[in-house]
Amino acid sequence: MSEKNILEIKNLHVSADDKDILRGVDLTIGKNETHVLMGPNGTGKSTLGYAITGNPHYIVTEGDIIFDGENITEMPVNERAKKGIFLSFQNPLEVPGITLSAFIRSALEQKSGKRIRLWDFKKKLKETMELLSMDESYAERDLNVGFSGGKKKAEILQMLMLEPKLAILDETDSGLDVDAVRTVSKGIHAYQEKCKGSLLIITHSTRILESLKVDVTHVMEGGRIVKNGDASLVDAINENGFEQISE
Ligand code: ADP
Ligand code: MG
Repeated sequence: MSEKNILEIKNLHVSADDKDILRGVDLTIGKNETHVLMGPNGTGKSTLGYAITGNPHYIVTEGDIIFDGENITEMPVNERAKKGIFLSFQNPLEVPGITLSAFIRSALEQKSGKRIRLWDFKKKLKETMELLSMDESYAERDLNVGFSGGKKKAEILQMLMLEPKLAILDETDSGLDVDAVRTVSKGIHAYQEKCKGSLLIITHSTRILESLKVDVTHVMEGGRIVKNGDASLVDAINENGFEQISE
């Protein structure tokens, strides 16, 4: 494992409900790098995100996941989160009874293992919500309940507050209008610049990538990464679709 890498995945095979989904994924992400993962529906992109974060539903049957120099293949989901892995869900869960603010504060306290002063927390939360053009009232509303398009912004807010070493964003731009895409993109840019974290952006569209620095693009098909390239690969996919570029 090179010191320069935050993530090294080797020959990863993953199954869920006795179905083989990932069939030998190799993926290396460097520190402060942004990678884009594209590919047709049902090819295993979300599964890769779940496997990296340690969702117990997804079973690693072969291969290794090395994060920040440590083999985390068998590590429980909460410990991986503590080490700095974050997943923004394709369909964020609604959690009635827990406010967005309380949810983020508790996640921060679990991660750091100590209490966080309310004043400091509220200040940072307010500044970050402003950056994302989120109305302050969202902080005291139940997590994601009735947030609609605001769910995706709430995920980006969590990322900026938790400052993970690796953030995986799964279709964070889907279903958003132009303004919301721009705001989400601004939040991701802030993460690149301020948190110096690494990103794996799973996406169908390139709208979200326009103002972002992209280092590497990967294409997944049939549970494997079949092509790697630089940012220009995204343009090639836009023009020609996946069929032409997969050979
Ligand atoms: P993508 O994100 O690229 O659209 P997914 O990772 O969601 O693909 O799914 C890949 C394949 O694995 C699909 O055929 C899907 O139906 C299947 N799959 C995903 N999750 C599960 C699961 N929990 N149990 C069984 N099959 C699953
Ligand atoms: Mg998916």
